[in-house]
Amino acid sequence: MQPIDCRLCGNTVLVEKYSNQHTSIQWLEASATSCQRFAERLARGDRLGTDESCSALNASIDGAAAAGEIDLSLRSYPTPGKLG
Ligand SMILES: [Zn+2]
Repeated sequence: MQPIDCRLCGNTVLVEKYSNQHTSIQWLEASATSCQRFAERLARGDRLGTDESCSALNASIDGAAAAGEIDLSLRSYPTPGKLG
């Protein structure tokens, strides 16, 4: 997995891509506090599902993938990642 920063929040998550459609995201911190989008929705009283993601983060991941910054994984399961 490799770190990707959300362009909106600056929040860093770990990402592993298996195909163009299949991306695994590992949050390093609670999304409700680390992501601006989630925090805004919680402040409005929205309920957040466990599989929800930040649209700005998704766009950041798509952009990094399009720029060739994310290597496709040959594995079929996530590997533990770490920063640095
Ligand atoms: Zn975000």
